[in-house]
Formats: sequence, structure tokens, C-alpha cells
Amino acid sequence: MVVEPKVKGFICTTAHPKGCEESVRRQIECTKKFGKAEGPKKVLVIGSSTGYGLSSRIAVTYGYGADTIGVAFERESNGKRTATAGWYNTKAFEKIAGEDGYYAKSFNGDGFSREMKDDVIQCIKEDFGKVDMVVYSMAAPRRTLPSGTTVSSVLKTVGEPFTNKTLDLRTNEIKEVTVPEADEDEIKATIQVMGGGDWRDWIMSLYDAGVLAEGAVTLAYSYIGPVVTHAIYKDGSIGQAKKHLYDTSVELTNKYKDIGLKAYISVNKALVTQSSAAIPIVPLYISMLYKVMKEKGLHEGCIEQMNRLFLEKLAGGVVQTDEAGRIRLDDYEMKEEIQSRISEVWDSVDSESIKELGDIKGYWDEFYNMFGFGYDNVDYSEDVEI
Ligand code: NAD
Repeated sequence: MVVEPKVKGFICTTAHPKGCEESVRRQIECTKKFGKAEGPKKVLVIGSSTGYGLSSRIAVTYGYGADTIGVAFERESNGKRTATAGWYNTKAFEKIAGEDGYYAKSFNGDGFSREMKDDVIQCIKEDFGKVDMVVYSMAAPRRTLPSGTTVSSVLKTVGEPFTNKTLDLRTNEIKEVTVPEADEDEIKATIQVMGGGDWRDWIMSLYDAGVLAEGAVTLAYSYIGPVVTHAIYKDGSIGQAKKHLYDTSVELTNKYKDIGLKAYISVNKALVTQSSAAIPIVPLYISMLYKVMKEKGLHEGCIEQMNRLFLEKLAGGVVQTDEAGRIRLDDYEMKEEIQSRISEVWDSVDSESIKELGDIKGYWDEFYNMFGFGYDNVDYSEDVEI
């Protein structure tokens, strides 16, 4: 069928198979151009189909020459509606990586579940023996706990409601938004979904099964951001989960000293992904950030960030961290020259001036690209197999 974008708020409900393949190809080209580094050769990526996880998988494959196992939760096509972008991305990646001589196997299902962990461990035993890197890049709205109860994460503040500006993605207008405070149950649930609990379960299961290599490295991703986003992010319900994620990194490194496991948090840049589009205030900040970073020649997308993470910050096993032991890929974003420009105009930006002060076009270009739309070398009028 002819596939067109159907955008509802911050989500696109269709995805273009050829466009997704194009997106994967472009990311692969980007890593090939960036170069290579010495690094792990057997890598497990959890949350491997979109955003930072997909780019991680591409960077380790083409930068380290690694074989990968990916885990993601994506919807297949039923013949009438398209599959999700992550499903097409994964198919495309497996195909291209396979043609290039790399092992790439993917599991589609609930990464929180015991069954998924068992299936992946079985596969590691059969095909890899052990893994020397585990990337945990899952971003989920909800989680079914082993008890069978399903809990949902919320994007709310902690303490008091917070009012600020946001970009209304339906109209591209600047509107005021009040983010309510989360109650204790919501904070707890957000930590259960987006904190370090499941990362710990994965590492524990891999260790207990004897499939974590000596000196293995594991990574999970976080965000800090500038003061304008603190109430909703760093100090909000998601921030509590990210604190838990950080504490888990310290715990894992200490707990698995016998095999020399190192667990790191990489603090990444704010970027358009399916998850970040859902956070109030953040899309406005991202559009202004893109504008300033592009002007300064410092803009990066997921793949540029992940190339720098794996091929510079972690290259050759020498890990560059801040005083708290975190890898800082938000180093460009947080530069004084970038942040001062945004804070100077933040208070005055409105629906008119955002056209100048923000990069709304850049925001939407990346948004459409995420679903495989907007590539000049893809013929969107053509019938495609979904
Ligand atoms: P994303 O939505 O693009 O990717 C999420 C991935 O998780 C997908 O592969 C999806 O299939 C997978 N997933 C979701 N639920 C799952 C489940 N139940 N089982 C298995 N897989 C599941 O998100 P992203 O923005 O790339 O986020 C990845 C990580 O990076 C998160 O920890 C996020 O907080 C962090 N991060 C994001 C940004 C940003 O601006 N986007 C910035 C810094 C850090």
C-alpha cells in the first residue's frame, strides 16, 4: 500500500518500511565515516529498535565490529496497518548487518519479563558464549511486575505543580502548561518502570547464568538538562527514576567486582525520540536547543551521540567520566554559550518569535524521519509491502 504519515499529537501511528530502512542506512553510513575503535565484540542491547538503543546497536556493530543481540517491544503489521517504526528499523538493521557479515539477532517482546531474559540467555549461550557489553536503553510507559500487576510511569513534578511554556505539537504554538505533582504511588511506579530495577534484574540474570564476560561493561542512559526543565525532568518523577538508575550503576559495579563488571550511566543530549516527544516543556526546549546548537555547529542526533560515546568516550577501554563517574554526552548541550542563549530568550519566546528563536522545522524533520518519512530519496507515492 501507499503509506502516509498519520500524526496524532506527539505520535505518528504509521511508519514507512523503506523510509525506516533508509534511516538505518544513513545511521550506518554516519558510523562508518566516524571511524572505528577497539571494543567489545559480543553486545546485548535492550531497547534496540529506536532512538538511542538503535543508534547504540549501529555504533557498536560498525564501530567495534561487534555481533549484537537486540531486545525491543514492537508491533508487527497485521496486513492492514503498518508495523511500528522500531519493527521496520530492526528488520532493516538485521538485513544490512547480515549482508555486511555481522551477527544480528533480535527478540521482540516484553523485556521486563522473566521469559524474555531466559530466551536471551539461551541464545547467548548457544551463539555467543558470553557477552562483554550490555546496553540498557529501554524507555517504556508501563511495566507488568512479576506479581502480574501493571504499573505506569508518569511525567509529573515532585512537590508542587509547575507552570511553564510548552510547544503544542498539534499547532506549533507556544502555550502555557501546568504539570501536576505526582503522588507517592505514582513516583514509586515511575521508579519501577524507568529506574534501575529491571536493569539490575537483567545483569543479575546474566551473571547467574554465567554469560557475563570478565571485565564486561554495562551502560544505561540518563538526562539532566538545564534549569528550565528541572521541575519536569531532573527533579520530577522521571528524575527520581533516573536517580535510582544511577544508584543501580554504583550497586552493580560493587556487586560484581569478582568479574570486574563496570556499570556506567551515560548522560545524553535531549533529542527528538518517541519518548521525549511525550514530555511537556521538553519539545519547546529541544526546538530552541537545536537552533542554537546548529548555529554553533555542535548539533548531534542519536547516531552522532552514540558514535561519540562508543568510539571516543569508551574507546580502548579508557572511560572518560565526570567526578560522579558518569559519562557526559551532554557536554556540548550544557556549554555556557549554548545555555545562556536559550535562557536569554526563554521568558520572551511566544508563538510568533519561536519561528525565529526555535528550529521547529528541524524538530519536525527529525520527528518524521523517526517514522521513516521525509527522506528525499524514498518514493512515497509508491506501493510498498508493509
Ligand atoms: P525510544 O522510545 O526511542 O526507545 C525505547 C526502546 O525501548 C525501544 O526500542 C522500545 O522498543 C523499547 N521498549 C519499550 N518498552 C519495552 C519493553 N517492555 N520491552 C522491551 N523493549 C521495550 O527512547 P529513547 O529516547 O531512545 O530512550 C532510551 C533511553 O535514553 C531512556 O533511558 C531515556 O530516558 C534515555 N535518554 C533519552 C533522551 C532523549 O532526549 N530522548 C536523552 C537522554 C537520555
